Amino acid sequence: MPYIYRCKKCGAIYYSATSIEYQLNKYCEKCGGELEQLGEEGEVMEMEKEEEESKKKKKK
Ligand SMILES: [Zn+2]
Repeated sequence: MPYIYRCKKCGAIYYSATSIEYQLNKYCEKCGGELEQLGEEGEVMEMEKEEEESKKKKKK
Protein backbone atom coordinates (compact mmCIF):
# COMPACT_ATOMS: atom_id res chain seq x y z
CA MET A 1 0.00 0.00 0.00
CA PRO A 2 1.47 3.35 -0.95
CA TYR A 3 2.01 6.10 1.56
CA ILE A 4 0.45 9.42 0.76
CA TYR A 5 2.17 12.73 1.29
CA ARG A 6 0.80 16.21 0.94
CA CYS A 7 2.71 19.43 0.50
CA LYS A 8 1.95 21.79 3.36
CA LYS A 9 2.47 24.76 1.06
CA CYS A 10 0.69 24.02 -2.21
CA GLY A 11 -1.29 20.90 -1.31
CA ALA A 12 0.29 18.70 -3.98
CA ILE A 13 -0.24 14.98 -3.34
CA TYR A 14 2.58 12.45 -3.68
CA TYR A 15 2.55 8.68 -3.39
CA SER A 16 5.51 6.68 -2.16
CA ALA A 17 6.19 3.08 -1.27
CA THR A 18 8.35 4.15 1.67
CA SER A 19 7.49 5.72 4.98
CA ILE A 20 8.52 9.34 5.46
CA GLU A 21 11.27 8.22 7.85
CA TYR A 22 13.04 6.61 4.90
CA GLN A 23 11.94 9.13 2.34
CA LEU A 24 14.97 10.90 0.87
CA ASN A 25 13.09 13.81 -0.58
CA LYS A 26 10.76 15.24 2.06
CA TYR A 27 10.11 18.39 0.12
CA CYS A 28 7.71 19.26 -2.66
CA GLU A 29 9.13 19.05 -6.16
CA LYS A 30 6.98 21.94 -7.29
CA CYS A 31 7.41 24.57 -4.58
CA GLY A 32 9.97 23.15 -2.13
CA GLY A 33 7.42 23.09 0.69
CA GLU A 34 7.59 20.52 3.44
CA LEU A 35 5.66 17.29 2.90
CA GLU A 36 3.46 15.77 5.58
CA GLN A 37 2.51 12.13 5.64
CA LEU A 38 -1.21 11.53 5.43
CA GLY A 39 -0.89 7.83 6.21
CA GLU A 40 -1.38 4.76 4.09
CA GLU A 41 -3.99 4.70 1.40
CA GLY A 42 -7.32 3.87 3.02
CA GLU A 43 -6.38 5.43 6.35
CA VAL A 44 -6.68 8.92 4.94
CA MET A 45 -10.45 8.97 5.12
CA GLU A 46 -10.30 8.15 8.81
CA MET A 47 -7.78 10.89 9.45
CA GLU A 48 -9.92 13.43 7.66
CA LYS A 49 -12.86 12.42 9.83
CA GLU A 50 -10.77 12.98 12.94
CA GLU A 51 -9.74 16.35 11.61
CA GLU A 52 -13.36 17.31 11.16
CA GLU A 53 -14.11 16.19 14.71
CA SER A 54 -11.30 18.26 16.18
CA LYS A 55 -12.44 21.29 14.21
CA LYS A 56 -15.91 20.93 15.64
CA LYS A 57 -14.49 20.70 19.16
CA LYS A 58 -12.46 23.85 18.64
CA LYS A 59 -15.57 25.79 17.66
CA LYS A 60 -17.12 25.03 21.05
ZN1 LIG B 1 4.31 22.22 -2.91
